[in-house]
Amino acid sequence: MSHDSPPVRRLADWDHDRLGRLAAEHATPLYVVDLDRVAANYERFASAFPDAHVMYAAKAHTGRAVLSTLLDAGADIECAAWGELQRAIDAGADPNTLQYTAVNPPDRDLDYAADLAAEHPGLTITGGARDTFDRLEARGYDGRVAIRINPGIGTGHHEKVATGKDAKFGIPYDEVPELADELNERFDLVGVHAHAGSGVLHDDLDDHCRAIGKVADMGRTIEDRIGGLEFVDFGGGFGVPYREDEAPLDMQIVGEKVRDAVGELEAQIKLEPGRYVVADSELILTEVNTIKETPAATVVGVDASLATLIRPAMFDSYHPIRNLTAPDREAEPVSVGGPCCTSADVFCTDRPIARPEREDLLAIGNAGAYGYELANQFHSQPRPAEVAIDGDETRIVRERETLEDVTRLER
Ligand SMILES: *Cc1c(COP(=O)(O)O)cnc(C)c1O
Repeated sequence: MSHDSPPVRRLADWDHDRLGRLAAEHATPLYVVDLDRVAANYERFASAFPDAHVMYAAKAHTGRAVLSTLLDAGADIECAAWGELQRAIDAGADPNTLQYTAVNPPDRDLDYAADLAAEHPGLTITGGARDTFDRLEARGYDGRVAIRINPGIGTGHHEKVATGKDAKFGIPYDEVPELADELNERFDLVGVHAHAGSGVLHDDLDDHCRAIGKVADMGRTIEDRIGGLEFVDFGGGFGVPYREDEAPLDMQIVGEKVRDAVGELEAQIKLEPGRYVVADSELILTEVNTIKETPAATVVGVDASLATLIRPAMFDSYHPIRNLTAPDREAEPVSVGGPCCTSADVFCTDRPIARPEREDLLAIGNAGAYGYELANQFHSQPRPAEVAIDGDETRIVRERETLEDVTRLER
């Protein structure tokens, strides 16, 4: 894989015959992830930031096949929960290279991280509240820490992801210098960190760079106060085009903009893309089971639902939909929804799609980031299987759940 892979992958670019065979073999709804695309996205991103240390933010997609693909490609992993740390290790990550971003961490998470660090002192723990550092100290931890800064600027595709201006995330900007002095005595303070938002595309890029500039300023302030920092981490947030008419980010230009925003910095620059790496590497295959013409709309019922992909219901997200069975049929405005008894269970409303018929196979695109990760069992629906395309090979990387999996822990 090289970094001259195309910067965006649309549904039309997937091999429709191959997808049809996968649906026939594994049933629907089905997640299909292309591991070469995962690696290519990572490599394109990393090559735009040649002097940065790029970590993959695991929460976008913590599947083992994805994590090990990225580890093989040379990525390190950023985790935000103990389970993600364990899964990164299971996929082959050296615990000394992991970074754990603690957000209101439950005791169990801090216990796990402190124990892990006792064996693997290279682990870095990022805190965004004084309490987190006090609780680490109470566990006898005096290792590597970073301060998560609240830059006061939030960016991204939806209010619910604009973390940079949400008081929940990070230490208020003006309190960071004093806290740094203090933490430098109590721990090995190695970095500062911020993550301002998610899904940043063209319109948001200047705001995002403003946030990055503020964080870099703080990095310099702390460097001066404590005599050096190992890294300044600017988080993730780089978006992908979900709509067919949106252009992808030109990562070479983004790389230059970010470098300009950062300015002179002795510390290493770190970045933590999640969405950018996985979003267009995965789609969902779903079968049409109902066509209902009503005066208000043509309703197309499918077997995927908000339990399969919750982003449209949760973030009003647009996901491209393509009729793989008959992409060339005349397009008609339709509303596509699943079997859940809520009006939120809808993937699109009045969107022109090549006129679906019963038993057609549809693809819902850009499902790699926060897709399977947010899948759930609403309506007692077992979660779908996931198949990985790996060059010429295909293999199942997650079995389809059964109803027994849904009820297994009931007593
Ligand atoms: C979610 C998250 C990321 C990744 O964000 P993307 O928008 O998926 O790139 C990176 N860093 C932290 C701390 C996060 O919480």
